[in-house]
Amino acid sequence: MRDAGHFLIRSLLAEKLISEADVQRASESAASKNIDAVDALVGLGIISSRRIAIERAKICEYPFVDLTHFDVDFHNTRLMPRAVAEKLVVYPLFCFDGVSTVAMLDPLNLQAIDQVRQVLKGDIDPVICDAEQLRALIARAYSLSAASGASGSAGDEQTERTTGEEPIVAAVNQILAGAVDMGASDIHINPDEAELILRYRVDGVLQSLQGPQKSAHAGIVQRLKVLAQLDLTQTRRPQDGKFRFHPRSGAPVDIRLSIMPTVHGENVVMRLLRSARSIGAIRDLSMPEDMTQHYEALISRPNGMILVTGPTGSGKTTTLFAALSQLNSTTRNIITIEDPVEIRLPVVRQVQVNAEIGLTFAAALRSILRQDPDIVLVGEIRDNETAKIAAQAALTGHLVLSTLHTNDAIGTIARLRDFDVPAFAITNALLAAMAQRLVRRVCDACAESDVPDPHLMLEYGLSNAMAIGLRRGCGCVKCGQTGFRGRVGAYEMLRMTPGLQAVIEGAASRSELAIAAAKDGFRPMWRDGVDKACRGITSLSEVERLRTVIEARLESVDGAASTSTRAAA
Ligand SMILES: [Zn+2]
Repeated sequence: MRDAGHFLIRSLLAEKLISEADVQRASESAASKNIDAVDALVGLGIISSRRIAIERAKICEYPFVDLTHFDVDFHNTRLMPRAVAEKLVVYPLFCFDGVSTVAMLDPLNLQAIDQVRQVLKGDIDPVICDAEQLRALIARAYSLSAASGASGSAGDEQTERTTGEEPIVAAVNQILAGAVDMGASDIHINPDEAELILRYRVDGVLQSLQGPQKSAHAGIVQRLKVLAQLDLTQTRRPQDGKFRFHPRSGAPVDIRLSIMPTVHGENVVMRLLRSARSIGAIRDLSMPEDMTQHYEALISRPNGMILVTGPTGSGKTTTLFAALSQLNSTTRNIITIEDPVEIRLPVVRQVQVNAEIGLTFAAALRSILRQDPDIVLVGEIRDNETAKIAAQAALTGHLVLSTLHTNDAIGTIARLRDFDVPAFAITNALLAAMAQRLVRRVCDACAESDVPDPHLMLEYGLSNAMAIGLRRGCGCVKCGQTGFRGRVGAYEMLRMTPGLQAVIEGAASRSELAIAAAKDGFRPMWRDGVDKACRGITSLSEVERLRTVIEARLESVDGAASTSTRAAA
């Protein structure tokens, strides 16, 4: 090993890919951390693991395989126990005519070659891969396909032996653990005629994965029903339940399970609920600084209404709960009415809407107001009655937090009017309306400077100096080649000001409202998006996508008003 590493370093030096000083730094770091000098070069960011793999391939005269362009057969996990793959960092890519092509890091490691030969019981053809990519591939392959071991076919004993669990139990655990690892919000298990389709919703987008075999379907559904204490004999009626999953590391996750019978069997959808611990403070929402200050000041008011708007999955709940968890104290009586309760907060009383027994938002709100709360969170205002009671509560000494379905903050005014809330109640009760959308974060692992289209620069009024921080992701294993990883909010806040009050009382049109708002410092959310792009958090193309979506919706609602807001901002 040491010799091979030494040889590799000499050749990197000869090609001027690294300097003598780099080698010095790497060997010091290697000695202190007790790792290989080559690993230290990568760890210090002197050279990429990919470059190392390419150089090593040249020296060993084995082919380098770029796993990003490779369709990997996850079923090959059956050929090799997970422990072996992880320990030796090897994976059988494909097998043909008794010879297995095996992805590995160092084919000169003869001990590893011998072990792989024994496990695969035949000849092997090594190829060299990037260490990061190969490790990611191994983790993904085994987390997904352990479930195929549940089919009961031959050759599965290994999966069973390595995990020490019943195959079905292991399969379900792998599906759940995989979702937690990937930060998924939902898990879908959809049976169709021939196969079982497993999908995770990550950053709002459904991603298909290699699922377990169709034959494991009934077992998986049974296991989930056991976890959620549902009726095992019932397969023809929808069922809902909840259970707690304990991953091997990290906090337990509450999961809401919904099972729906279809022609191809029971369809499973699971939602991973976040714990109160995952809710940060208002400061952690990445709002613009002035908006953070306004929001913090507004929630400490004794009464009034704060509304957050945006489509489902735009992070409204997180924004409101950040305020609640900041307000959460034993001296204040906080009650929430939700449909369904998504995040549990200590001390806060949380009521779940139940239409079947007549407990609607309006009915719940009315009875809750009799219990003298200081702060009420209403999950959503979606009818006249709820809107009017909420406004009344805000006018009579309660702080009301809620969400609305509108395209933007200015649209809130029209929406409240539609619900027959009188103008004086809007101007006196409403403290602020916020709107938000989530934009994708540029993947830090593959980000590079972005030089956008000059038209786009002009469109957003960006000078070269402002554009200096723009970034885009070029796609890597960490972000699944998308160039994005995680999401961040883009926000706008319409505060009630005397200027705005005057136009609302005058029954102003949307564009009059927009002009009055802009005069008092209102900045549309795409502006916040552009600021975030200039700081390299998101990309300009992502902001363009956001603005196109919002404006398309606005134009379908009320003509060209949006273009005038853009000009005004
Ligand atoms: Zn990336």
